[in-house]
Amino acid sequence: MAIHTEAFKKVTEELSSKKVSLVAVSKTKSSKEILELYDLGQRDFGENYVQELTDKYEELPKDIRWHYIGHLQSNKVKFIAPFVHLIHSVDSLKLLKEINKQGIKNNRVIDCLLQVHIAREETKFGLDESELDELITNNFTTSSNYPNVGVRGLMGMASFTDDVEKVNSEFLLLKSLFEKYSKHTSVNFQFSILSMGMSADYKIAIEEGSNMVRIGSLLFGERSPLSQAGPF
Ligand SMILES: *Cc1c(COP(=O)(O)O)cnc(C)c1O
Repeated sequence: MAIHTEAFKKVTEELSSKKVSLVAVSKTKSSKEILELYDLGQRDFGENYVQELTDKYEELPKDIRWHYIGHLQSNKVKFIAPFVHLIHSVDSLKLLKEINKQGIKNNRVIDCLLQVHIAREETKFGLDESELDELITNNFTTSSNYPNVGVRGLMGMASFTDDVEKVNSEFLLLKSLFEKYSKHTSVNFQFSILSMGMSADYKIAIEEGSNMVRIGSLLFGERSPLSQAGPF
């Protein structure tokens, strides 16, 4: 399968004029396809599965910035901790503690986003508003108990629906939470990244204030239904 070169050029132009960064979501795609985008200048890639990510990390150029965007089990953090650029999907204190522990072992600060559950009627991973508030106020108030974690912002996924109003309001909610907690800073807690928007809804997400979009199928083509039945 060939990558969609024209779509890539169009999207990167559109995004750079709006200062929005692009994470090319390469889950289930081959290293060869990733290299095609790499050769066009793309450096940020997103993956959902730990094993797939570590295999691709071994195989591909070392200046790729790898984003982990899928549901992450605590016992798998150790495999990506040495090299992962940004974990978008922190949805529990337990996971955050483990990331800190692995950050210490690897002598680095691992940057993270807190994932918020904004899709009202679907079961997706993420913290709800009160869990988010609790996690932040209990753990990042004056000084951080987790010096090897850097909390850099929020991530969310809107409902899969044609209802633009609905998607709009979900992104709006995430944006308002982002603004609320942007005022709250401590050593390891400083928001700058709002990761929202995928192939189908990235334009809406940008209108609502996203500054990082995660786009897969638009760039790489559709994933096969089988391989798509991942952690969701
Ligand atoms: C697969 C995935 C994407 C990309 O989805 P597309 O519709 O292919 O653009 C973005 N974010 C997350 C968390 C994903 O799992």
